[in-house]
Amino acid sequence: MKLSRRRFDTLILGAGGAGLRASLQLAEAEARVAVVTKVFPTRSHTVAAQGGVNAALANVSPDNWHWHMYDTVKGSDYLGDQDAIEYMCRSASRVVYELEHFGVPFSRLENGRIYQRAFGGQSQNFGEGQASRTCAAADRTGHAILHSLYQQNIRAKTHFFDEFFAIDLIKDDEGVILGALVLEIATGEPLLIEAKTTLIATGGCGQLYRTNTNAHINTGDGMAMALRAGIPLQDMEFFQFHPTGIAGKGMLITEAARGEGGYLINGKGERFMERYAPNAKDLASRDVVSRAIFTEIREGLGCGPDKDHVLLKVDHLGKEVVHKRLPGIRDLSRTFLHIDPAKAPIPVFPTAHYVMGGIPSDRYGQVVVPVRNGPEEVIPGLYAAGECACVSIHGANRLGGNSLLDILVFGRSAGNRIIEYLQENRYHRQMNDAGVEKAMARLQRWDLRGEGETVDNLRTDLKQVMEEHCGVFRNEDVMQQGVAELKRLRERLPDVRLRDTSSVFNTARIEALELENLMDIAMATMMAASARKESRGAHSRVDYPDRDDINWMKHSLYYLEADRLDFKPVRTRPLSVESFPPKERVY
Ligand SMILES: Cc1cc2nc3c(=O)[nH]c(=O)nc-3n(C[C@H](O)[C@H](O)[C@H](O)COP(=O)(O)OP(=O)(O)OC[C@H]3O[C@@H](n4cnc5c(N)ncnc54)[C@H](O)[C@@H]3O)c2cc1C
Repeated sequence: MKLSRRRFDTLILGAGGAGLRASLQLAEAEARVAVVTKVFPTRSHTVAAQGGVNAALANVSPDNWHWHMYDTVKGSDYLGDQDAIEYMCRSASRVVYELEHFGVPFSRLENGRIYQRAFGGQSQNFGEGQASRTCAAADRTGHAILHSLYQQNIRAKTHFFDEFFAIDLIKDDEGVILGALVLEIATGEPLLIEAKTTLIATGGCGQLYRTNTNAHINTGDGMAMALRAGIPLQDMEFFQFHPTGIAGKGMLITEAARGEGGYLINGKGERFMERYAPNAKDLASRDVVSRAIFTEIREGLGCGPDKDHVLLKVDHLGKEVVHKRLPGIRDLSRTFLHIDPAKAPIPVFPTAHYVMGGIPSDRYGQVVVPVRNGPEEVIPGLYAAGECACVSIHGANRLGGNSLLDILVFGRSAGNRIIEYLQENRYHRQMNDAGVEKAMARLQRWDLRGEGETVDNLRTDLKQVMEEHCGVFRNEDVMQQGVAELKRLRERLPDVRLRDTSSVFNTARIEALELENLMDIAMATMMAASARKESRGAHSRVDYPDRDDINWMKHSLYYLEADRLDFKPVRTRPLSVESFPPKERVY
């Protein structure tokens, strides 16, 4: 088959906030930039972000970036890299003002400044009192940001490949990334995009779990592409469960509901968070609140006939606050529960939400891998930003409002670093035909006909295994069984067949490719989780309930080849201020 080819300076995989912030930086510098996205750009998951983006603007409470940095280091349970955290928190105000100038319609205070609400884990003065740091456009902040970034990109003439699915990266024999093979979903035709630089910005992988807050498209494709290119995934054991998903369904009720003054109650009507986090209460960080809900339910203190959820109360805030500040959660509650939250409490239960781990990268968006007995090495031509990357800002637990910040700050810095690289590397390298053939084979495998298992079958089993063996509370036996189960699922994969192998708009083929990606990421998550013998942040082990700073102040790295694990130290030295040494984490 003759393969069509296109050439660009930069190929960006993903049109969420990270991809679009990077592409804007590049297009404005007059680089030839292509953005490939499997859905129309404004349908990327960033559009669903509700609560807001953190920056110490001090519009509502006294604040500064150094307190924000402290909160982020503490929130990460001391696993975040402090140089990158300092960089992000220092950049925050600037990227938020940039958004304002791009046209994001932030909610406003009486004095005209950007509205900021309280969110979990935010403090004043290094751990005292609550700060209000989350800049919000009602509870539809991601929607506002993504649309503004898209419009700015149209103005800057970014080239979009909408509804194209990236299959695999192409790498040459020296390890330089040359672009990617992609598939035009409408026609089923493959296309080779050659690029001097490639940025992976494909977002998260919440679809690993049965109950989750994520879009259906969040299948970790970019992370799996990195794995197949020999790059490890970092800190995959840390998966965030958001405390307030709609019970039994999983859709997100934003932390903003608690930021505005909402709180949780158990079956006895008690405000139980007072017992788990005497100071921050309902605004403790997410790992703490999720575990508290699980514990209440386990002790028989849940709500409803089956005592299987707790209630989130916002009705006492009054109709006006709910309508003005939380219109999105009002819509969600009405649609999925037939409840008006201004009148009745919302049944909630923790739900899979965000992956802290990802492709190891530095604060310039460069993908870095450790080499034996030496400093880390940059993979030439390859960058990662956004939820698919692990910089690592969020360490073992992400604070609400820090992901929108992460995607903007590091999307921007990756764009800047790519511009520098392009100035020094002006020419395309020779395409690697063997690499292209390998990627094509991945696609053609799904043309095999015959009887076999369905994609849906295997995917359902995969999500079930993850939910049962790698959830909020974990222990060795259960995870070992989980690893064995995943190996069995992996063996079933070659027998899976499509019922319909036609080319035109065949979404079943896309789902098959996504399933392969999820499978590798599931293994990375389960293997890393069973290796880490301590409890830290979102990784909570019943058999090792304590944090172990002597042995485990290190990042895990999972390699696809032979399911190998490795580790690298946490970067505890910030850029200009003193380090925050680990101490007990109480809220
Ligand atoms: C419901 C919800 C609410 C949230 N609320 C907040 C909040 O209030 N504050 C906050 O800070 N964070 C929030 N988060 C987290 C935050 O929104 C995300 O982490 C962040 O938006 C991810 O941005 P991204 O650019 O990395 O990826 P995404 O926005 O997920 O974009 C990924 C892009 O990659 C493309 N893509 C993926 N795979 C392929 C492929 N194989 N081929 C081609 N294209 C591909 C997709 O089409 C898409 O364009 C929320 C998350 C959810 C799920």
